[in-house]
Amino acid sequence: QEARQIPQRLLFYKPYMSKGIADRILLEQDLHKALENHEFHLVYQPQVNLKTGSIESVEALVRWHHPMRGFVSPELFIPIAEESGLIIPLGEWILETACKQAKIWEQEGLPPFKVAVNLSLGQLFQQDLVEMVEAILVRTKLQPEFLQLEITESMTMNIDQMTQLLHELKALGIQIAVDDFGTGYSSLSYLKDFPIDCLKIDRTFVRNVPLNPNDEALVSMIISMAKHLRLKVVAEGIEEVEQLAFLSDGGCDYIQGYLFSKPISPKEISETFSDLHDHVRVILTRLRHTDDFTI
Ligand code: C2E
Ligand code: MG
Ligand code: MG
Ligand code: MG
Repeated sequence: QEARQIPQRLLFYKPYMSKGIADRILLEQDLHKALENHEFHLVYQPQVNLKTGSIESVEALVRWHHPMRGFVSPELFIPIAEESGLIIPLGEWILETACKQAKIWEQEGLPPFKVAVNLSLGQLFQQDLVEMVEAILVRTKLQPEFLQLEITESMTMNIDQMTQLLHELKALGIQIAVDDFGTGYSSLSYLKDFPIDCLKIDRTFVRNVPLNPNDEALVSMIISMAKHLRLKVVAEGIEEVEQLAFLSDGGCDYIQGYLFSKPISPKEISETFSDLHDHVRVILTRLRHTDDFTI
């Protein structure tokens, strides 16, 4: 098996290929071995409920430690995994690992919080997706209300099929969030039909808030639309107190970003959970000049 892979790599490389393409082919080959070689792990980033000041969920984010290259960004390898079909076994591994971890935190006695797991487009087209999610919930014994799946809007999705799929997923008792909201091109009309719980405002919109009036207008509009549709709103990529202040005033429900915490290891979540919580409350208390988290 191993011996067959090396000449195949050489065969793939043609001098006319740009370095980028050749590199991508090599990366794809390595990706195929990465799962069995245990080169992936997950990190988790807290999402804070602004009203209560508590960490209500954590988003699982995959990391690939390549033996030669070191850290490879998911922005780079997830699309390759999608195109090569590897996203199916990788996606299953991610979901199972995150659910297992959520159960471990529960058993460790941490306060209850959800785990949010990204689904990529290829997984949405996976025939047995619903069965797979259900089987993982059964295997890991995680209660479904503690799992949130993040899906992205996409041009390629058929609204009827997607609505059907989301209804089947919701029937398992899990939560569904639309990730990177506003960056896709699909029609807004799906929002009223989709059985979703939450919208995540993409980082590109909050990046220039509160400086850029156009971005401010967009963010405010997304929040107000979400309220009308009775959806929760998460803003991601919050790094500055000024951004937090704008979103908090605007009625955003949840915040995720470096301001509160970078994505961290499961061990760090376990060991620093109460410190993290204190850190969040200090920031929110300063912001509001009150430590009453029920208002
Ligand atoms: P995403 O799902 O929108 O995840 C949020 C990204 O924003 C993460 O990048 C996170 O580390 C980053 N982020 C969060 N707060 C801040 C902040 O305050 N400042 C900055 N500069 N960045 C912040 P990451 O982990 O590199 O992931 C990038 C994208 O790769 C994800 O975007 C998602 O689309 C994809 N991805 C990551 N993990 C998974 C996974 O397990 N499965 C799938 N299907 N896709 C994943
Ligand atoms: Mg996400
Ligand atoms: Mg996002
Ligand atoms: Mg994103």
